[in-house]
Amino acid sequence: MKFASRVTNVVPSLTLAVDAKAKAMKKEGIDICSFSAGEPDFDTPTHIKEAAKKALDEGKTKYGPASGEPALKEALAKKLQEEDHLNFKPENIIVTNGGKHSLFNLMLALIEVDDEVIIPAPYWVSYPEMVTLAHGKSVIVPTTVEQHYKITPEQLRQAITPKTRIFVLNSPSNPTGMVYTPEELQELAKIIVEKDIWVVSDEIYQKILYDGAVHRSIGTLNTEIFERTIVSNGFAKSYAMTGWRVGYIAATEPVIKAMTTVQSHSTSNVCTFAQYGAIAALQGPQDCLAEMLHAFTERRQYIVERAKAIPNLSFLTPNGAFYLFLDISQTGLKSIDFCQKLLEQQKVAAVPGIAFGADDCIRLSYATDLTTIEKGMDRLDKFIHLL
Ligand code: GLU
Repeated sequence: MKFASRVTNVVPSLTLAVDAKAKAMKKEGIDICSFSAGEPDFDTPTHIKEAAKKALDEGKTKYGPASGEPALKEALAKKLQEEDHLNFKPENIIVTNGGKHSLFNLMLALIEVDDEVIIPAPYWVSYPEMVTLAHGKSVIVPTTVEQHYKITPEQLRQAITPKTRIFVLNSPSNPTGMVYTPEELQELAKIIVEKDIWVVSDEIYQKILYDGAVHRSIGTLNTEIFERTIVSNGFAKSYAMTGWRVGYIAATEPVIKAMTTVQSHSTSNVCTFAQYGAIAALQGPQDCLAEMLHAFTERRQYIVERAKAIPNLSFLTPNGAFYLFLDISQTGLKSIDFCQKLLEQQKVAAVPGIAFGADDCIRLSYATDLTTIEKGMDRLDKFIHLL
């Protein structure tokens, strides 16, 4: 059977594949420790679920505007203005089926055949594939541990060509956990403005920060960069709402209109009652965030200490998100081989770094409970010692 080249040129998401395998093994009764997908293990806070149930009971079960419920866009504009200091209005916002859908939609709306999108590596698994699906070209810029996996201004400048349309910036980063400082953002912003390209700022982990790390959106730095900033965010990671599929993009109105056209012919609106849950997430009590962050902080401290004590692994302590990105090059194994053996021999699921453009690394998500982390790290330690 013949398939479209847009499909044959991409591979299925490895983060989802490893997660599905781990979940299936667990269901079979296998005692598996999963560090696979970045999915908080907490249930969605009760007040958010109640708001969605209420919306269902009130009949919020019909089609809504393709770009999102007006009440949610109002609440998002307020959040973006007050919390992030980004002067976006409701008409600058589109509500999407999760952060992933936001970015996919955006690529379809902005990218033409052979347009270039600059992506620093290690990168989140889906960025380059979305560019390919939109028939664009990813320009991967490798970064090193010495530069804390952050693109330098020189690297960005060199990667830009007349075909460059977008630079993808993800801070806090999945998979590295690194956070760009305002000074670093300032340097990158100068080049973005000078070269007149878009910056897509993926801020999905903005609330998951440690050790005094600060999140600042690049769009806040000055008016010129604000006009070129497309902010992508969502509810999945901060509010433990992964399955709800509610994300959003904030940008200049023409970008939102273009994305709304795409959305009006693809998904239409996001599940109406789920959007009412999202409104409750923004307007309700925020102590759930502090509680979850407290748990992530505890887990991070534990996993970092354990990883430090295991030979032949090296890593940078993450300042944000909930991933530990381990360099496994000293083991002599490449990432797929390492993860396969780890799964077979010790029943520990981790994501091979090749998915993120770093075949010498593996990613452990610590968005799981401490007991699993403890058991999983015991097994990883044993695995390395037996190699
Ligand atoms: N974003 C999460 C991760 O990187 C969820 C899986 C996915 O969408 O890739 O694990």
